[in-house]
Amino acid sequence: MNTLTGVGVSPGVGVGPAHVLAYEAIVPAPGSRHGGTAEDAAAELALAGRALERVAADLEGRGARAGGEAGEILAAQAMMARDPGLADGVATLVGAGTSAARAVYEAFGHYRDLLAAAGGYLGERVADLDDIRDRAIAVIEDRPLPGVPEGTGEPYVLVARDLAPADTALLSPDVVAAFVTEQGGPTSHTAILARAMGVPAVVACPGATSIAQGTPVLVDGASGLVRPAPSDDEVTEARNAAAAREAVLASATGPGTTADGHAVPLLANIGGPRDVAAALEHGAEGVGLYRTEFLFLDRAEAPSAAEQEAAYLEVLDAFPGGRVTVRTLDAGADKPLAFLPPGAHEPNPALGERGLRLFRTHPEIMDTQLAALAAAAARSSARLQVMAPMVATAEEAAWFADACDAAGLPSAGVMVEIPSAALRASDLAVRAGFLSVGTNDLAQYALAADRQLGALTGLQDAWQPALLDLVALAAAGAAERGRPCGVCGEAAADPALACVFVGLGVTSLSMSAPALPAVRAALSRHTRQQCHLAADAARAASSPEAARAEARSHLPGLAGLAL
Ligand code: PEP
Ligand code: MG
Repeated sequence: MNTLTGVGVSPGVGVGPAHVLAYEAIVPAPGSRHGGTAEDAAAELALAGRALERVAADLEGRGARAGGEAGEILAAQAMMARDPGLADGVATLVGAGTSAARAVYEAFGHYRDLLAAAGGYLGERVADLDDIRDRAIAVIEDRPLPGVPEGTGEPYVLVARDLAPADTALLSPDVVAAFVTEQGGPTSHTAILARAMGVPAVVACPGATSIAQGTPVLVDGASGLVRPAPSDDEVTEARNAAAAREAVLASATGPGTTADGHAVPLLANIGGPRDVAAALEHGAEGVGLYRTEFLFLDRAEAPSAAEQEAAYLEVLDAFPGGRVTVRTLDAGADKPLAFLPPGAHEPNPALGERGLRLFRTHPEIMDTQLAALAAAAARSSARLQVMAPMVATAEEAAWFADACDAAGLPSAGVMVEIPSAALRASDLAVRAGFLSVGTNDLAQYALAADRQLGALTGLQDAWQPALLDLVALAAAGAAERGRPCGVCGEAAADPALACVFVGLGVTSLSMSAPALPAVRAALSRHTRQQCHLAADAARAASSPEAARAEARSHLPGLAGLAL
């Protein structure tokens, strides 16, 4: 079998026999109904309630045994299982005649769709929900629960379509040599727990579950390579390369700078207070993007000012004296919110009333959020910056900056996610105090390629020369007004692209925390001049592949990092 490639999310090299989890979740048939009488309904409802409670108690019990980060994650999952909104959903369905198992399946479906549509950190919570659902249905149907072997012999490589925290929380490096999953991303709980446990992990690795049970597997949690049946030489080589790479990464510490001392602050993208620990662990100098949608999700109405203030303060307090950039609510399209639907039916929500545009029709939601942010900032020594998503024009930027001024917020900026904003960046920067390029959406709009469509990944490639041109325009427009311009899209996590962005004039980089050490090391090994040359070469190319290759030819330090 050939080497498989995924995303390395917990560094190190692990070798062991594959243990492939083949649990197939039960899907109760659509339309499955109970007997139909009031007694039947009461009995089914009680059955569903007991199942959800048993799952919650089991998760809590495992959490208490695991302790630490795993304990917190499982306690949060137990709360999801006891969610009153979910119980109401089950009761409504059972009341209308649906069987307990199907009602649980459908009630979870609603939350699942919301999270999946949000993508990123929120999207990765879908696996946690699915796990609760599958466990509850197994209890209702009296079938065995999903689980992993305790492991007595040689540590194994645990391979699965996806893993739930309940599966992994009680494992240790004596039992498991590495994790490999076909699904999941850098902020999935598999990734978080693997890092906390110090076990190498690769996620988003297609084909992994077709590895035969018991086959020896080599897993490189940094490069994302998974090699079935490796030779002894391959194992030695991978271990040596990993050790060398770790040494290089560990040697680059402190604030981000190029080899010739040009400072490029390295910041973290977070979804809430829960991500702060990882940001600090990886040396984030602050937060470059706090996605506040998480607070608003799954609500009948917006969270109160007091609740918002507490969440913002918790993040601000983690970075005393540092910079924390909070993005105001970015609802709509790929981040739908139940209580904030667009005004009319939209055939094309990505081009609809979303992001800042929704604040125009619901100014009270913006005012509450800005007031909560101002109140949190007043109680913290962190430097709060607030920015608006999906800004298209200078007029919108000015409108938002005025609202921030009125709320007493010291620093208001805008995201550059729409080509018009990049093209007219210097107009936006008249009132916006800083710009932050969101490459995920900027690529989507520049290449007319839906970010949620896997089939269009090639067009979403951040090395597309057209996208690089837009980033260059945004940085130049900001510089014309003496304003900083960062990048906070996922592209900043690519060490080579990070160097190119610096060469294009970008002044700070924000990314998911685990990517910080490699980007810090890549910058420290190249001068600003090398970054300029790499950027010029990438922009002169006419395809993403050529742009990547041309840029890398000016960035020799990447080879030493095995990147
Ligand atoms: C982006 O669009 O690049 C971005 C950072 O915002 P989000 O991914 O949350 O849409
Ligand atoms: Mg965006």
